[in-house]
Amino acid sequence: MDGPQPRQEQARLPFDRMQARAGYLQRLRSIQQRGLIPLIDVESSYNPHKLDVAAFVSDMDTVGMIMCASAEQPSNLVNKGQLWSDHSLELQRAYPTHFIPVGNGGGHPAWSEHGSAFLDAAEQFLVADGYPMMGEFEFHHYPSPRQVQRGDMHRDVQIAIDGPLGHRLFALAEKTGLPFQLHYEIEDVLLPPLESMLQQYPKATVIWCHFDQIRYSARSTLYGPSMLAQWLQRYPQLYVDTAMGHAGSVYELSGERHSRYWTRKSEWHEVMAAHPYRFLAALDIGGDRTDSLLLWGRRRREFIQSLPDALRERVAYKAAWKLIYHEEI
Ligand SMILES: [Zn+2]
Repeated sequence: MDGPQPRQEQARLPFDRMQARAGYLQRLRSIQQRGLIPLIDVESSYNPHKLDVAAFVSDMDTVGMIMCASAEQPSNLVNKGQLWSDHSLELQRAYPTHFIPVGNGGGHPAWSEHGSAFLDAAEQFLVADGYPMMGEFEFHHYPSPRQVQRGDMHRDVQIAIDGPLGHRLFALAEKTGLPFQLHYEIEDVLLPPLESMLQQYPKATVIWCHFDQIRYSARSTLYGPSMLAQWLQRYPQLYVDTAMGHAGSVYELSGERHSRYWTRKSEWHEVMAAHPYRFLAALDIGGDRTDSLLLWGRRRREFIQSLPDALRERVAYKAAWKLIYHEEI
């Protein structure tokens, strides 16, 4: 594929983060007035061709949330020879207090098969269009549980984080100051290259998605509350998003309960209390489950409820707000 493709002309209006701020604050307050802790979901994506926006927005109101959304890279976009979609800007314009637009995530096949051209597009549009953060980049990604169920195994993505694409992405994050979301399975052999990149790019803000989600326990003996506490101490630009399965969720390919948080909550609460603005709420709604927001929202609230009082509001929305607006609320 030849370089970044032009966006649609009608979608050229960039996002103005400061102009949107008052509306978001008003929405947060109105959710609080209903007796709910607001949620800011930092990591979700959708397929513009499959989203029932009116129903989805109504579910967002029920859940009490603001969503940072990136338009998923549907394969039909790649088939049309495009690597970038401006749709999340349009979505925010249509519902200016519900959505925070996010740059397209690096997913299959735009990223896994056209990584360099995809980064060309990201470089061209991210800052020019005012995106406050980048979407989720998959470096090591086992098939998701829903993909396993439908026999869709192409997503076993493995891209070296310390390879050329990784260096370009970390450098882009440093240059723009924009956080990026990272999908990277938690395994012993994968930790040294990630740590090396955090050392080499100390100003790149990285949101490591899927807190304490380990799909094969035999491959992960090093990660845990004490290791992550050390990393959070050492790398002030490292954040963690808490999109993970519920306590009983089993990863079918390994037969294991992959959300380890639930078995060592009190140890994690100590780490979170020491770094309260580094843990972010996230639902990880994807293009194949935008009709299940009520269920996923309920599960996020179970997680928020599992936290000590002093942490709930910070993890639910204050940490995300600080990351996006560089201020505490
Ligand atoms: Zn992910």
